[in-house]
Amino acid sequence: KRIITSDVLEEDIRTETNLRPQTLDDYIGQSKAKETLKIYIQAAKERGDSLDHVLLYGPPGLGKTTLAGIIANEMGVNIKITSGPAIEKPGEMAAILNNLQEGDLLFVDEIHRLNRQVEEVLYPAMEDYSIDIMIGKGAAARSIRLDLPRFTLVGATTRAGLLTAPLRDRFGVVHRLEFYTESELETIISRSAQVLGVEIDKKGAAEMAKRSRGTPRLANRLLKRVRDFAQVKYDGHITGDVASLALDLLEVDKFGLDQTDRNILLSMIEKFSGGPVGLDTLAASIGEDSGTIEDVYEPYLIKTGLINRTPRGRVVTELTYHHLGLPYNS
Ligand code: ADP
Repeated sequence: KRIITSDVLEEDIRTETNLRPQTLDDYIGQSKAKETLKIYIQAAKERGDSLDHVLLYGPPGLGKTTLAGIIANEMGVNIKITSGPAIEKPGEMAAILNNLQEGDLLFVDEIHRLNRQVEEVLYPAMEDYSIDIMIGKGAAARSIRLDLPRFTLVGATTRAGLLTAPLRDRFGVVHRLEFYTESELETIISRSAQVLGVEIDKKGAAEMAKRSRGTPRLANRLLKRVRDFAQVKYDGHITGDVASLALDLLEVDKFGLDQTDRNILLSMIEKFSGGPVGLDTLAASIGEDSGTIEDVYEPYLIKTGLINRTPRGRVVTELTYHHLGLPYNS
C-alpha cells in the first residue's frame, strides 16, 4: 500500500475528523482564499443572506473538504456532504436539494464526476433556487417548478478543467488551493501532534514538513507513522533524527515523492532522454491516466522544479537528475 499517496486511506478517516480545524483562524495557509472567504461570509451574514456558491479546486489532500466544513461553521449552517459519483439519477439530486433547510451548505466532492442529467438539475437550483420536476407519464406528463430554500453549493474538484462551462459559470466564488509551504506544514504538524498527544520538537516538525509533499493529509499520515516508530524504538519523542530515520524507513524521499512521482521522472529520463514528451505519451509509458498525471502528480513536480512545461511538452530539469542520483550531461 502506498503511504505517500494523497488519496484518502482507510486509516485517515478516523483521525481526519479530529484533526480538521473548525474555524478560518485555525485553517493554516491558503491566505488568499481565506481572506476573500472571510469577507464574503461576513457580508452574507450581515445581509442575512446565504453565501454565494463556491468552487474549490486543487490536488487531493489540500483541505477542500475541511474548508467546506469551516464555511458552514462560520456561516452557522448545517452541512450536507455528497459526491459526484454517489448521485446517479436526476431524481436523487432533486431529493437532496428538496431536503435542504434554509441556508444549508451542500458539499459535492468530485463534482466533475456528476453525470450530465444530474448536473442539469443543478442549473436552475443554483441560479433561481428552484427545480423542475416531471410528474405523470406519456401525454399526461407535465413539469412543475418547485421552490427550494436558499442554499450554498460548495463544489470540490481536482479537475477544474473537466467542469462544463454552464456549471462553472454558476459559481460566484472560485478558488484554487495551493500546496502548503514548509513553514505552514510545520504549524499543521505541531498542531496535529498536540491534538494526538504526541511530543515533537521543532526540528522533528521541520523534517516532516519537508517530506510531506506540500500536502496536509500526507503530513498528518506521516506524523502517525513516525509516532509509532518513535514510541517503539525511542522514548516516544519525535526529534529531527527520529523523524529522518523513520521517514527513510518508510521510503519517503527528501521531497516526499511517491513511487508514481518517481516513475514519471525516471520514465521521462530513461525512455524520452529527459523530454520534451507529450502528456499522453508519458501517461501511456507508465500506465497512468493522463488526467491523473496532470491534476494529481504533475502540479507538485512542477512546483518543486522537477518538471517544466514547455510548448513542446514536459521536460525534466538538472535538479531531477541530482534528486534521483543520476549523472547529468547538459
Ligand atoms: P481534500 O478535501 O482537499 O482532499 P481534506 O479537507 O480532506 O482535503 O484535508 C485532509 C486533511 O488535512 C484534513 O483532515 C485536515 O486534518 C488536514 N488539513 C487540510 N487543510 C488544512 C489546513 N489548512 N490547516 C490544517 N489542517 C488541514
